Amino acid sequence: MDYLPIFLQLQARPVLVVGGGRVAARKVDLLRRTGAQITIVAPELVDELRELATQGEVQHLETVFASEHVTGAAAVIAATGVTEVNAAVSAAAREQNIPVNVVDDPAISTFIFPAIVDRSPILIAISSGGQAPVLARRIRAQMEALLPARLGALARFMGDRRKAVKRALRTAARRSFWERIVGGVVGARIFAGDEVAAGKEFERELRTTNLTRSSGTGALGLGECYLIGAGPGDPDLLTLRALQLLQQADVILYDRLVPAAVLERARREAERVFVGKQPGNHTTQERINELLVHYARLGLRVARLKGGDPFIFGRGGEEIEVLAAHGIPYVVVPGITAALGAAASANIPLTHRKLAQSVTFVTGHVLDDESLDWNSLAGARQTVVFYMGVGHLPQIVAKLQAAGAPADHPVAVVERATLPEQRTLRGTLETIVSTVQAAKVAPPALLIVGDVTALAAADSLIGSELGALA
Ligand code: SAH
Repeated sequence: MDYLPIFLQLQARPVLVVGGGRVAARKVDLLRRTGAQITIVAPELVDELRELATQGEVQHLETVFASEHVTGAAAVIAATGVTEVNAAVSAAAREQNIPVNVVDDPAISTFIFPAIVDRSPILIAISSGGQAPVLARRIRAQMEALLPARLGALARFMGDRRKAVKRALRTAARRSFWERIVGGVVGARIFAGDEVAAGKEFERELRTTNLTRSSGTGALGLGECYLIGAGPGDPDLLTLRALQLLQQADVILYDRLVPAAVLERARREAERVFVGKQPGNHTTQERINELLVHYARLGLRVARLKGGDPFIFGRGGEEIEVLAAHGIPYVVVPGITAALGAAASANIPLTHRKLAQSVTFVTGHVLDDESLDWNSLAGARQTVVFYMGVGHLPQIVAKLQAAGAPADHPVAVVERATLPEQRTLRGTLETIVSTVQAAKVAPPALLIVGDVTALAAADSLIGSELGALA
């Protein structure tokens, strides 16, 4: 960390701004929101600052800077645009250990201004440590888009009721109560601007929570389960809802296909339980089902995090059956399935007006299942994606050829799709097995069969454009 992010309380405290131009005006505008007592030192002021001075909103010293101006200030900002003056301001402030910011000159500043998302009282400060302000501002724009506009209203609503909740509920019950408020109807009502209805819902929630507590059943209330699709690997491909629920889970049961970068985005305190199927550590589906029920019965919020989408070759259907049978509330959050992730990152359109009118997802685990219609899978004008163990590739290719697919039928194998190590190997039914063997492709990988795999127009276009630029 090159800087320590802190939030400065400036209410009614003296802050010195040196400079009277537009840049200074922007800083003054920001500082006024904190209730600081602002003094501006400058021989001249732009109109908007002069107006503020006339109204008595800021104090104006109509003079050139002298080092004694900094004395007593809680913070100093140099925005003169004149290198020597800025340097003098910085030196004077540092001499007296007063935090100083020189606009656009981090080298002689002792603090810098972050990009800010203001949902007061919620504040988010973003900094690139002066390395990439454009990037920081971009992140800010993304946060602005992500966060409900009335987040501040929700924070105030909660703040107003903190004491009452503290009186009414035991410590252990409080956090999950607040989680329900934030993640449930009350939060939704606030975001929609209806504080009156939110207030009524809140009272009802509080009463019910109290009743459950005093009814003597001893239960903390039944837990709940979130069946979450983690997407194909790239954590940026998680859905917003997946992120929200991962932030409120107490326990996370995750698969082998869920990368560390995705787990990173979950609540820090959440217990992480690996239930992947790996040589030497084989958690059966029955065991996973047992664990889901076990943790939910403890009253916990259980996130069941699965690679891709929970309902595509993920046995999600079996898990919700078990949850339903035990009366455990659950919600399913879709994820980007591996085929869609691979298609996007390998530039393979799965359907195409001229080449493929349908797409089929098949699991390579049913190779010997006679019910699979290989004749129809081998047909033209379609795309077939095989989710598979790499070892199954030769059999799949053989079955397709036996069913009449031509040897020069285009195919692609995408290994570790959407992850930094992704590899895409293209070929035909005839060549792909040896290509994959030579490249030592390892799981997870999938096979895409169809004319669309020969397109890769975007790939070569970008390649040649880059070539032309070089
Ligand atoms: N529910 C998951 C699929 C689980 S089956 C989903 O919707 O994606 C496991 C198979 O998915 C793997 O054998 C592999 O074929 C495929 N797979 C999962 N992640 C992948 C990735 N990042 N790249 C390529 N294939 C992947």
